[in-house]
Amino acid sequence: MTTHFIVSIDVEEDNQWRRSEDYSLHNIDCLPKFQELCEKYGIRPSYLITYSVARNNNSANIIKTLAQTSKCEIGAHLHPWFTPPYQSPFLRAAYPHTYPYECPDSLLYKKISNLTNVIQKQIGVEPKSFRAGRYGMDGRAIGYIRKKGYLIDSSVTPYWSWVDTLGTTLGGPDYSNITEHPYYVGRTTFPNPTNTLEGSILEIPITIKKNSIDEVIWLRPFPWADETSLLTIIRNSLQKKELVLNLMFHSSELYVGGSPYSETKDAVMKIERKLKAIFKFVTELEIKSSTFQEFFEQENEKIKKNQLTI
Ligand SMILES: [Zn+2]
Repeated sequence: MTTHFIVSIDVEEDNQWRRSEDYSLHNIDCLPKFQELCEKYGIRPSYLITYSVARNNNSANIIKTLAQTSKCEIGAHLHPWFTPPYQSPFLRAAYPHTYPYECPDSLLYKKISNLTNVIQKQIGVEPKSFRAGRYGMDGRAIGYIRKKGYLIDSSVTPYWSWVDTLGTTLGGPDYSNITEHPYYVGRTTFPNPTNTLEGSILEIPITIKKNSIDEVIWLRPFPWADETSLLTIIRNSLQKKELVLNLMFHSSELYVGGSPYSETKDAVMKIERKLKAIFKFVTELEIKSSTFQEFFEQENEKIKKNQLTI
């Protein structure tokens, strides 16, 4: 049994935690340096990019250059508030930002479709991995991404509920009782596992663990995350022979002023140091780094066999 290490990055507009009528994309300039760091440790990141990032020629060129190295994967990340078309009350720059699952059927499908098409046109790849903005996935979106050729979703945050976190009209999804381990999810069962192949997608939850005193810890370089706890998550998963670790963060966290977690140069350096320590540890433990698609290719049959009654 191999434990795979996935690094999945929401590649998006600068500081999406605050209200703004328009967006900037300065943080995308930080990605080539980050890719270099990944390559130094043999890490193969998965970049999940928004419509704005793919649409803008400058940022698209940066992503295209990364894609051409074949040392990373390009997937999709849906921010409904900056992905056309718009329809009241889910307007451009709507705030609080719209969870994808708030959108009516045809609006949601058109947004997923536009996002996918702009990635194909501007980057020249067919995205196979998806993450909903604000983790706001639902069963309809599972059906729609499958129709658009995706194989993988990574929007589930185990042990975490967004119910009290407002979108434009509703609170977010509740994932507090969902498994940490990858599983096949269905259009009608999301966020729970399905027992049929029809309309299903491989769900790879973000790595979030509970420690011995029931604290919930994300495998993520948060300012308050202490390095030892993050490395402990990795060591424990390896010891338990778990199939996958899925570390997430946002591209904007690598840019000074790009997120609430990276307001100063010092804060960004701390994030970089944590990532470096994690990558170094993963290398030392000889954990295999995989993109979402590489994980899918190697493990999907096993997951399917264990879960589905075909
Ligand atoms: Zn996002």
